[in-house]
Amino acid sequence: MSREEDFRRKYPCPCGKGEYEEVHYSDDSGRSETCYEMLCPKCKEKYVYDHTVIYGHPWNEVERGWVLKRVLEAEQEHRENVGEKAKVLYFKFWKAKFRNLKSKKQIWKILTLNGKYYPSLGTLYKHTKVYTQKEMTEYVDHFFNYHDLKQVFEVCGIEPDWKNLGVNGEEIRSFQPDNLNNQEKHESIEIKHRRTSLSSSDVKPSEVTDVYWLFAERKKGQVPIAHSQRWQIAYICQYKRYC
Ligand SMILES: [Zn+2]
Repeated sequence: MSREEDFRRKYPCPCGKGEYEEVHYSDDSGRSETCYEMLCPKCKEKYVYDHTVIYGHPWNEVERGWVLKRVLEAEQEHRENVGEKAKVLYFKFWKAKFRNLKSKKQIWKILTLNGKYYPSLGTLYKHTKVYTQKEMTEYVDHFFNYHDLKQVFEVCGIEPDWKNLGVNGEEIRSFQPDNLNNQEKHESIEIKHRRTSLSSSDVKPSEVTDVYWLFAERKKGQVPIAHSQRWQIAYICQYKRYC
């Protein structure tokens, strides 16, 4: 099946002093492809075309387009850093989940949350047909990577410490484990905040620069304080004094 060129068009490049070319191809089966070539020598040095779809529908997708090489490099570095940080913080939980599993089916159930994630049981059997136990472990561990962090957190059943992991708002949404029920989620966040505020309870408010004071202690239990701004500390101190 041969691929044929349908048409090509030229557009201004990012620096505005030259052009890039868009070329459309299709074959007999109806598959089509669009390629982009930077014609401006100045932009060719600095930019690469990123085919990542940022929004749209299968029949009308909008790709990210020309991106500065240094931006892509910085993004790659960030992904590697987050992946490494996640390994330091959570790989032990991952290992514990697979430690005592004997059969491939048991491993598959945990790894994919009973088929929610890739691979299917049949694919796993096919991929790992002649694997030794060591190779099987390596196979499972390669799923612990930046791109599969949502699956990782769901397998481990943990709400990660996003700040410590160094991820931003958009990444938090994409990695947010959604198999923890709201009660667990609420508790894990609350316990974490409580721990943070309690562990810093011996620090003078005037010395605290990066810990949010979310709980004010009083004799009967604790009261959550909705605001997290630094200036709340003075209020909390007053609250402690008068309750
Ligand atoms: Zn240019």
